[in-house]
Amino acid sequence: MTQAIPEYEVYAVKYAERLGSNHTTFVFKDIHDGPMPMDYFVWAIIGGGKTFIVDLGFDRRYARGERHLLRTPAEGLKLLDIDAAQVEEVIVSHMHYDHAGSLPDFPRARLYLQEDEMAMSTGHFMKYKAFRHGNFIEYTVDFVRAVYDDRVQYLDGTQTIAPGIELHRVGGHTHGIQIARVWTRGGWLVLASDAVHMYDNMNKQNPYPAVFDMRAMLDGFRDMQNLVDSPDRIIPGHDPLIIKNFPAASAKLEGKVVRLD
Ligand SMILES: [Zn+2]
Repeated sequence: MTQAIPEYEVYAVKYAERLGSNHTTFVFKDIHDGPMPMDYFVWAIIGGGKTFIVDLGFDRRYARGERHLLRTPAEGLKLLDIDAAQVEEVIVSHMHYDHAGSLPDFPRARLYLQEDEMAMSTGHFMKYKAFRHGNFIEYTVDFVRAVYDDRVQYLDGTQTIAPGIELHRVGGHTHGIQIARVWTRGGWLVLASDAVHMYDNMNKQNPYPAVFDMRAMLDGFRDMQNLVDSPDRIIPGHDPLIIKNFPAASAKLEGKVVRLD
């Protein structure tokens, strides 16, 4: 007997923003490029009686500079009636501060993480500022504690973690960044997190400047397109067009939570 595959509902919850006066979005510059604003999200996948959260955002321990924390990821999920304290499954795309923070708000969660990502965040590469500037030590330490508490489910490559939810290691932005491929009413959807920062990084084949391995990043763009029926089923990690283009989860969540599936 085959197990029925749920058609998952998928939501993007905006928790922070950056107005973009002081950072660049593309490796290759064009004279027409101006500063681009950036949104910060966590994502919720709901179906088959379960809730999976993708990424943990950052919390008040990190909020600084041009990044404005609008609500903690846990406060954002509350808008969807999801209680972070009860969440059991969290997919962690990669260990950068804006994806791997706020772990104390998710005390029961099992954490799906690629081995290469944890190796990068705790090993040799962290000797170099160019690699560690995206990490925040307090968040990395939270994850080391989670390993010792048997809460980290390590992956090595591609794995199906539930019917209709596959995780694929793509690398590129970081050594072990992974994306989630999710079955929905509209077919397969890819939550790319920072494997694609903005639509234009992929559409113009012009990556975001934070790159660990340029070849893997470009191969990742191609491989993700092979996981969906059309490129608009790939959801970038930080594009303000997400909130603009997708329908709000409900009228009162306008500008905060959109439905992606
Ligand atoms: Zn990010």
